[in-house]
Amino acid sequence: MTDRLDQTRAAMRREGVDALFIGASTDLRWLIGYNAHAMERLTLLVLPVDGRPQLVVPGLEASSAVAAGADAHADIRPWTETQDPITLVRTIAKELHLDEDATIGVQDHLASVFLLRLQGVFPDVDWVVGSDVLRLVRQVKGPDEVAALRAAGAAIDRVHARIHEVLRIGRTEAEVGRDIKAMILEEHDTAEFIIVASGPNGSSPHHETGSRVIEDGDAVVVDIGGTKDGYCSDCTRNYVVGAPPEGYAEMYPHLIRSQDEGVRAGVVGNQAQDVDRASRRVLDDAGFGEWFTHRTGHGIGVDVHEHPYMVEGNTDTLEAGMAFSVEPGVYIPGKWGARIEDIVVASADGPIRCNNNTHEYVVVDGHGNLA
Ligand code: ZN
Ligand code: ZN
Ligand code: ZN
Repeated sequence: MTDRLDQTRAAMRREGVDALFIGASTDLRWLIGYNAHAMERLTLLVLPVDGRPQLVVPGLEASSAVAAGADAHADIRPWTETQDPITLVRTIAKELHLDEDATIGVQDHLASVFLLRLQGVFPDVDWVVGSDVLRLVRQVKGPDEVAALRAAGAAIDRVHARIHEVLRIGRTEAEVGRDIKAMILEEHDTAEFIIVASGPNGSSPHHETGSRVIEDGDAVVVDIGGTKDGYCSDCTRNYVVGAPPEGYAEMYPHLIRSQDEGVRAGVVGNQAQDVDRASRRVLDDAGFGEWFTHRTGHGIGVDVHEHPYMVEGNTDTLEAGMAFSVEPGVYIPGKWGARIEDIVVASADGPIRCNNNTHEYVVVDGHGNLA
């Protein structure tokens, strides 16, 4: 954690940021190990480029901050129910000699109810987006983080290997989703999201698992993830009940190639957009480009979606330790959809896949068995 603070400060120095204001968030947990819950009372880490970090916490939370070990990294600055925490932040800024025209990076999810008041008491400060700095350090994973992502990936692979048990004709997506949630929890600490998109619902990439009943002949997109030891899994596979719908089997090899080319482009020295281009080119050439309607991937770590984003226009250079999804999809409106998603880590030896189940669509009989 001390490393993370040091790395963050080095990045602040490079980017010309004098302090970061970090509210209750995964950034706070990642930096000092304190998992504060976001609420109406202000929790704020003031991280100066020089000097000791100061953690403003509601008085009633001070003991849990200490229990989490936050005091090893920051001075704990509790405020009572009748005090104004914004005034306390101003006092701290004076103690730290933060000039009136300092540049302050604001963590991306600091609530506007706090930020607007902070902007009121620091009228001359130059405010910048905190992730301009934090993404530079968070997107390059250390060996312990890569190991955690691989363990989370193996956990979700074990869940996908059991989907045939619960994907049965006559059940709703929601019923299937509830069973998948239980399986995710057997393998993870939390279940974060469950997309079961059957038949025509598969053509909506972020379909809300709902009341549609699974039928014979459905193609089903299953995109699921949880967290294990604080790190996220996220993996999509495709299932077919009985025989695939029209056009599906002909399209599918192109999707496999598209995903594979994206992974192959995820090498150190390439740009993030090269991954998107590689996946997209395959589907464009095969005539499915107009049905691939989203970016190819997103970074992943303690958040399921984080930097770097695999999208046209992102010229960030891939470094060893960057972890991201490669998840091209084809969505034929009103008919069916398919997406293949693996988490990949760029390394000196090439891309490391965190997910290793087959990319072929899995045919199930709809009665609890593989076909
Ligand atoms: Zn998504
Ligand atoms: Zn994803
Ligand atoms: Zn996903």
